[in-house]
Amino acid sequence: MLMNHQESSTLNKIILCLVVLVPIIATIFAIVLLWNRMVHMTELMVLLVMFLLGGIGVTIGYHRMLTHKSFHAPDWVRAIFLILGSMTLQGSALNWCATHNQHHANSDLEDDPHSPLHSFFHGHVGWILDDFRPNVQKYAGPLLKDRLVVFISKTFGLWVALGVLVPMLICGGVASLHGGGMHGFIVGSLEGLLWGGFVRIFINHHVTWSVNSICHTFGSRDFETTDVSRNNFLFGILALGEGWHNNHHAFPRSAFHGMRWWQIDPSGLIIRAMEKLGLAYDVVRISPERQEKRRKQGVGTTEYDVLPGLLLTPSAASAVAAATSVAGAVAQVASSPNPMT
Ligand SMILES: [Zn+2]
Ligand SMILES: [Zn+2]
Repeated sequence: MLMNHQESSTLNKIILCLVVLVPIIATIFAIVLLWNRMVHMTELMVLLVMFLLGGIGVTIGYHRMLTHKSFHAPDWVRAIFLILGSMTLQGSALNWCATHNQHHANSDLEDDPHSPLHSFFHGHVGWILDDFRPNVQKYAGPLLKDRLVVFISKTFGLWVALGVLVPMLICGGVASLHGGGMHGFIVGSLEGLLWGGFVRIFINHHVTWSVNSICHTFGSRDFETTDVSRNNFLFGILALGEGWHNNHHAFPRSAFHGMRWWQIDPSGLIIRAMEKLGLAYDVVRISPERQEKRRKQGVGTTEYDVLPGLLLTPSAASAVAAATSVAGAVAQVASSPNPMT
């Protein structure tokens, strides 16, 4: 028997929850089960610190600083954040930026690389398995003139390797200093590879992908954008502020994604601290008046200003126009299981 649209969309949401949550719960279960036998405090601390560093590399470096120019920073600060972002194995800075700009220019339309309206699996990870190739020239062209960004992108593999080597050396070093000698160093390095390398990359991946899938499916909408983006409290925290995704689609260039006092935005707090220390300047802020005006304006007014210097191509422009005309229907998220066909 054929499912109706409502049943299919509910099923999609349940499966999406399982895809994201089961591996995370299983990892926590494995940690508890193997505590003091195969998992120790050192590995967990390395996992946590590396996850957070990689996380801010993506949210502050790749996303807010590079893609949306939410703030400017000295070159050495930019280099650190872009290297941290590279360590998460989410593609080079240039590729990440091009993919993300394509998402903003075509959110939840046919040319969106990872809309969950296509299918829940596609929005989360299927788009990567489908061998998506970013168009850097079209969606991140102005960055090709930025020598630092080009260098760090070209040496991407080196930074991924460094992100694995560092936890290996730390965990191996700690184990050998605790009387393990050479044998302890080797075992510790392998545990560092597992927890600080593979498990950490796995969590960084799923958290970022969840912003694409979960935050275009579950949560509330403060602004009537032309896509189906949502503000999601859980990923507001886990994704270090990126889960306030409806706010972000309404104001792509804002350095702060949390726009109400209870919308915790760890990346925004760090940018605020960097600004005080003189490490970030020209920080883009959206005044409460502008937010209020945007709330009242309703649908069809998404500000497409994601990468200064990047001209809207005719296809992207028509996509935005199309989004505006179908906005009312698109805003009814998941009322249709596959509006792209
Ligand atoms: Zn989005
Ligand atoms: Zn963005």
